[in-house]
Amino acid sequence: MERKKCEECSGKIIKKQVDFSLYGISLGKFPAEICSACGEEVFDEKTSERIDKIAKERGLWGLDRKVKIVKIGNSLAVRIPKAISNFLKLKEGKEALMKPGKDKIIIES
Ligand SMILES: [Zn+2]
Repeated sequence: MERKKCEECSGKIIKKQVDFSLYGISLGKFPAEICSACGEEVFDEKTSERIDKIAKERGLWGLDRKVKIVKIGNSLAVRIPKAISNFLKLKEGKEALMKPGKDKIIIES
């Protein structure tokens, strides 16, 4: 299915190769339909399937985890799930930087 107009803003759609990255790792360039007005990027179904396949092959699939905020002493804490600590090669004692984002907590390791 080809789009001529953007569903968000009715801007003109152009086709372009775009870099796609997941968890900060580039998976390569893929053809996308991009709105020339608002920049909305849409991949067709075939391309989405290809991206999913590459992500799975590279172990970049399903790393999102739900975590619970718990209380430790006077502070709140979250456990870092094994899948994520393995992926980032985190070790106990390693320093990280935590900062607030808009509706999120950013932890840079
Ligand atoms: Zn648009």
